[in-house]
Amino acid sequence: MLQVKNLSFSYKESPILKTISFEVKEGDHVSIIGESGSGKSTLLKLLYGTYDLDEGSISWKNQAILGPKYNLIIGPEYMKYVAQEFDLMPFTSVSENIGEFLSNFYPEEKQERVTELLKVVELEPWAKTKVKLLSGGQKQRVALARAIAKQPEILLLDEPFSHIDNFKKRSLRRSLFQYLKEKNITCIVATHDQDDVISFSDRMIVLHEAKVLANDSPKNLYHNPKDKLIASFFGEFNEIKGHGIIYANQLKVVEKSNLKAIIKQSYFKGYYYLIEGDLNGENVFFEHPIPLKKNTTVYLEINIPTIIPTVS
Ligand code: ADP
Ligand code: MG
Repeated sequence: MLQVKNLSFSYKESPILKTISFEVKEGDHVSIIGESGSGKSTLLKLLYGTYDLDEGSISWKNQAILGPKYNLIIGPEYMKYVAQEFDLMPFTSVSENIGEFLSNFYPEEKQERVTELLKVVELEPWAKTKVKLLSGGQKQRVALARAIAKQPEILLLDEPFSHIDNFKKRSLRRSLFQYLKEKNITCIVATHDQDDVISFSDRMIVLHEAKVLANDSPKNLYHNPKDKLIASFFGEFNEIKGHGIIYANQLKVVEKSNLKAIIKQSYFKGYYYLIEGDLNGENVFFEHPIPLKKNTTVYLEINIPTIIPTVS
């Protein structure tokens, strides 16, 4: 178990993180979310032992993770960290970069392992290409493969797919997170992309104003967001008097109701339209299969599907 207890940290005077506590079970995937500047990257760096804490402690399997004051080499042996800006060896091939930390003592095993990793990050055709010739997204994939090459116990990923285009992102995300689960590698991901979280995280930690605003499963937080910041992470939502937070997909057009909206705009979203309307002087968003004509009147009904509660 990774244990973070009462962690506080500041670069200068103003605190970036204040009395943060949470635990991560072995093999679990946890995402750290929060607005830009909320301290996600800082938290990952602290978990890696990059800086000394002002207060509190971090431990893995009851062993302390300490900062540079106590360690000559930053980063415990069992942990790998992929920064937002990854550093690679530009003048050597993709394969050599991925295999850099693997022993040369068993060349056949090493080759097999590199081939397996090339597959996970879908870079087989580029095995022999020099890294400097790759795109940003391809480099990011090399960095990911390098980090998992020696099967760390914990993997820290900072915005791991931010440079990767949508064509590749979805399959790479599935392939990487599946691989980590199979190998029981604990993974902590800082991200602003809900697709990194919803299907793949066991828990989601929300940072806000230097504190942990929420720590729960994505499913529980989605169904019971409690806060606008959390709801906004999952998609377009409304605050409707007497009902609280209602997602755009939980409003349906009906023949008659006491929620009367005037249509302002329809946005094409693929398999549905996001409709913007006016509800008693406030903006309201809902989903609809077809666009609706501006200035027409519709009636809305809140339609929340019954949810099966989860144990967390
Ligand atoms: P996030 O990853 O959530 O966007 P960061 O952890 O990068 O947030 O940054 C949190 C805050 O700490 C920001 O206000 C940022 O400007 C500040 N910060 C980050 N790195 C440093 C640094 N090396 N020195 C001083 N301030 C920093
Ligand atoms: Mg960051």
